[in-house]
Amino acid sequence: MNSKNKPAPTAGERRHIERVKALDCVVCGVSGPSEAHEIKQGSWFLSCALCADCHRGSRNGIHGEKRMWLVTKMTELDALNETLRRLYA
Ligand SMILES: [Zn+2]
Ligand SMILES: [Zn+2]
Repeated sequence: MNSKNKPAPTAGERRHIERVKALDCVVCGVSGPSEAHEIKQGSWFLSCALCADCHRGSRNGIHGEKRMWLVTKMTELDALNETLRRLYA
């Protein structure tokens, strides 16, 4: 998750990421802890709570063939909205 040209998160960003990671996967519902996927690299408040498979899975993941995303008809923005809803609603 850490690439060299990505600025380190601030304390507030780290706190947000930890809250996101404590959620269940917003795409398939698998129980957390989850991984935090940033829609834009380094934009920590654009983090979505995803299980390893919906995140990095070669078939299902957003970084792979996105099959689970197609099945659930979710976009990254839907996942962000659901992540924030679960944190704040
Ligand atoms: Zn998932
Ligand atoms: Zn990611």
